[in-house]
Amino acid sequence: MSTTATTAAELQNYVNGAWQRSTTTEFVDVTNPATAEVIARTPISTPADVEAAVQAAAAAFPAWRRTPPGERIQYLFKLKNLLEEHIDELAAITTRENGKTFAEAKAEMRRGIENVEVACGIPMLMQGHVLEDVTPGVDEMQIRQPLGVVAAIVPFNFPAMISFWFLPYAIACGNTFVLKPSERVPLTMHRAMELLEKTGLPKGVVNIVNGGKDVVNALCDHPQIRAISFVGSTPVAKHVYTRSAAAGKRSQCQGGAKNHVIVLPDADMDLAKQIISDSAFGCAGQRCLAVSVAVTIGEAQKTFRDAIAEAASAIRVGNGMDKGIQMGPVISPQSKQKIEGLISIGVQEGAKPLLDGRNTKISGSESGNFLTPTILDGLPADSRLAHTEIFGPVLSLVHADSIDDALEFLRRSPYGNQASLFTTSGAAARKFRYEAPAGNIGINIGVAAPMAYFPFSGWKESFFGILHGQGRDAVEFYTESKIVVERWSRQETRKF
Ligand code: NAD
Repeated sequence: MSTTATTAAELQNYVNGAWQRSTTTEFVDVTNPATAEVIARTPISTPADVEAAVQAAAAAFPAWRRTPPGERIQYLFKLKNLLEEHIDELAAITTRENGKTFAEAKAEMRRGIENVEVACGIPMLMQGHVLEDVTPGVDEMQIRQPLGVVAAIVPFNFPAMISFWFLPYAIACGNTFVLKPSERVPLTMHRAMELLEKTGLPKGVVNIVNGGKDVVNALCDHPQIRAISFVGSTPVAKHVYTRSAAAGKRSQCQGGAKNHVIVLPDADMDLAKQIISDSAFGCAGQRCLAVSVAVTIGEAQKTFRDAIAEAASAIRVGNGMDKGIQMGPVISPQSKQKIEGLISIGVQEGAKPLLDGRNTKISGSESGNFLTPTILDGLPADSRLAHTEIFGPVLSLVHADSIDDALEFLRRSPYGNQASLFTTSGAAARKFRYEAPAGNIGINIGVAAPMAYFPFSGWKESFFGILHGQGRDAVEFYTESKIVVERWSRQETRKF
């Protein structure tokens, strides 16, 4: 049943252990991208709402910091179990607000849960180290202490997983936390917060402030926030990085992407076509690790082109909740229009559409933001589109004469999130691993997404900062290093 903007539920913020109305009068609709149904309204919260959340987090910090790490993680063990129990329900919410298929939403939630699991290792991960007798009778140690209040700002494409790249590590390390979800997909983390509340987590340790850029700017500027984690487009990542640095904070800001795969003629084409098709068109191409350009070498120009066109044309597009659907809609009508415009630019620049997903209508889902997979063959390596993020189900094929030429093309990309190679040659794989100018590398892998126990290592305009999300980087990011040099006089020991 469809609702109107005025009848859809207005969401609240979660501040100091309670759901609270925002002080705003401004709301944006949360719309199901498959049906255009308005399913909720996100408050565009105000700086006053941010202030309330930061004060709650600051008040909770002293006691939370003193809670032993082994006790802090008990809440995360409970959260993991609750997320597992409710995984279908959470995935259905993600599909409804984001559009990705139910299977993709469930896989996303599993990636989120993995981060909760890794953060449960904090009593080991957060340990420092000691060296006795740096000079006779003097010991030196490094200990790790939480920062205080930290905040994360996340995008629309992985509402659960990306929030969990940050939340579990931040609180396991003893910080208190403010999350700003994407205003377009706030419902998944709303439900996850209800589950987190059931663990008995002390009030103020985790807070959610919904909203847009005013909330982001207030978080960047706030003197009591010590660190900002951001994921989203490159222009906003740069903005958050510079604005939070100007306010004296550490930050880790993940930006946009244009990911390349190089296909050598010796690649296993059956494997390559399936994996690269899943990478380019999974989540409707709205993955920061989606392959966007395939660079073919030698006769792969023809063999891969034929294989990928066959794999992509078999993808079933529709409402992500329907059985057998492999690709859902893109997030909004504006996004669909933008993607169609970029496809047209690619065609003007000389590419030939092998598959053209523009002007798609899905029978029974006519109001959804659907495109079908698009393949642009022969995109010139020096074209504008070759280096522009599309963030939709579009794969461009570029041809190069050698792996060296292909690597040179990759080096010209402003982005460095991921690069992959398909080959059966170990020597080519090693050369690629050594030279490829990106932070996440795949060898015969389409989406080289680091597991939670490794950092998510974007480069160039795909990342601003030093310490990445996930793994040991997360622990370093969310803690401050303290060095203690310690001497006790011998006279003291004579007393005993
Ligand atoms: P976005 O940059 O529009 O929004 C991200 C966050 O920033 C949201 O919470 C939004 O409310 C806020 N925001 C938007 N405009 C702002 C502004 N002018 N000032 C301050 N805050 C602002 O990104 P999106 O459309 O939600 O997500 C898609 C983008 O995210 C793509 O570029 C994609 O590549 C990128 N992404 C990158 C990674 C990665 O790991 N590098 C992961 C996922 C998504």
